[in-house]
Amino acid sequence: MKDIGHFIAGERVAGTSGVFGPIFDPATGEETGRVAFASAAEVDAAVRAAKAAQPAWAEVSVVRRMRVMFKLKELLEKNVDRLARLVTEEHGKTLEDAKGSVQRGIEVVEFACGLPHLLKGEFSHQVATGIDLWSVRHPLGVCAGITPFNFPAMIPLWMAPLAIACGNAFVLKPSEKDPSCGMALAELFLEAGVPPGIMNVVNGGKDTVDAILAHPDIAAVSFVGATATAEYIYRTGTAHGKRVQALGGAKNHMVILPDADLDMAVDALVGAAYGSAGERCMAISVAVPVGDKTADALLEKLVPRVRQLKIGPGTEPGVEMGPLVTREHLDKVRSYVELGVKEGAELLVDGRDFKMQGYEKGFYLGGCLFDRVTTNMRIYKEEIFGPVLSTVRARSFDEAVAMVNAHEYGNGVAIFTRDGDAARTFANAVNIGMVGVNVPIPVPLAFHSFGGWKRSLFGDHHTHGMEGIRFYTKLKAITGRWPTGIRAGAEFSMPLLR
Ligand code: NAD
Repeated sequence: MKDIGHFIAGERVAGTSGVFGPIFDPATGEETGRVAFASAAEVDAAVRAAKAAQPAWAEVSVVRRMRVMFKLKELLEKNVDRLARLVTEEHGKTLEDAKGSVQRGIEVVEFACGLPHLLKGEFSHQVATGIDLWSVRHPLGVCAGITPFNFPAMIPLWMAPLAIACGNAFVLKPSEKDPSCGMALAELFLEAGVPPGIMNVVNGGKDTVDAILAHPDIAAVSFVGATATAEYIYRTGTAHGKRVQALGGAKNHMVILPDADLDMAVDALVGAAYGSAGERCMAISVAVPVGDKTADALLEKLVPRVRQLKIGPGTEPGVEMGPLVTREHLDKVRSYVELGVKEGAELLVDGRDFKMQGYEKGFYLGGCLFDRVTTNMRIYKEEIFGPVLSTVRARSFDEAVAMVNAHEYGNGVAIFTRDGDAARTFANAVNIGMVGVNVPIPVPLAFHSFGGWKRSLFGDHHTHGMEGIRFYTKLKAITGRWPTGIRAGAEFSMPLLR
């Protein structure tokens, strides 16, 4: 049984609060360890270590901090398999998928390797006679990251490399469901040359988060998780005077126009709806075929594909979909399937009876597919976060756009069509942060920024890319002149440009 504590001031420490949470292997359903929940005093110890280390780290030259990022990239690449295994053991997703997610995290470190360019300030020569004006970016101090269960390596890597490269210290609070990756990442940061105290991990649940939100020495909080939590983090964090970016939940639609390549659309739908058992904030959970003819043709091809999904433990080769993360989450997703039936939707594929031979206690659910879902149903309005795809038939392109825009979430959306004009009109009209044209999961690469609109993001900055650099730094503008410039003498009114 593993025993996960915290990572403070460059070392693993045991938890002292006496409060623990269980860790499960979702493939077998077995409890494989426990994680300590940090008390306010333990959070304070991490923040004190971070605060003590940060000023010296901020003084390290930009070039040396960049080299630490290069080293970190190398170490992460050497450890992809180990990290992916930790993801699969605690989250359940397939090893291939887990490796891909670690790779996407490494791409943020690659972006951070461009630090000298990213932190270049702006300089205006001779803004007035003998006067120059320049802007530079300073770190904020101690930043915190609170992350969800579905990407235990990638999402911490959206945050910590950029925060740290910019000269901040970081305190990570991983999901209590899969805490091992965060600890492993902290060790790799240290090995790469990040000084002790700059990358810390405190494990725990709500109480630990509340201690972070109230801590006066934390300047900024990055959050990714469910919308209700995101809103709470944003409101509480900003009430405590912190800069907060809080990314929330999603209900991502895929609109299929009558001229779409249906085979391409079906391949895209199966992967995007059922990959990672639907536990992705960019998963497609609503298919919107336009016109009944399109809907019938699409479902005819889709139904057998959902029935044939290869489900099993994520460590087994050839498996397409692993189990859900916990029994509690499995029960929640199953209850949504039951609700959909009660609400009158047509359940074309029912995965509720799926049993995995030899793994009867694992948290498995077969793929579920609904047709004739309507926009007033709860299974349409709420995020299910499981392998459940709803089909809502639209009568026209305009109806599909209006549907996407009326939904409270605005994370991702995709359109499948051969018509460039329709795709462009769609991309322009939708109130959604990330749009795919014949791309089902349009996650921007690390040098762009990731984030949704509406109730999928609270705060002003998306994550990684230049938005990440802006979030983790504050701007300073310096205006300078030297005695050889023109002397204006004493000025008592607004100085004017000369
Ligand atoms: P969650 O909101 O339950 O938990 C996220 C984090 O917040 C965890 O570290 C957890 O310990 C903490 N937390 C949970 N409840 C809390 C509370 N009441 N007060 C304070 N802290 C609390 O989310 P989850 O179940 O771990 O992750 C799934 C959710 O994350 C889904 O809604 C998914 O859409 C969302 N998500 C969003 C994105 C995005 O980029 N927008 C990415 C990944 C996941």
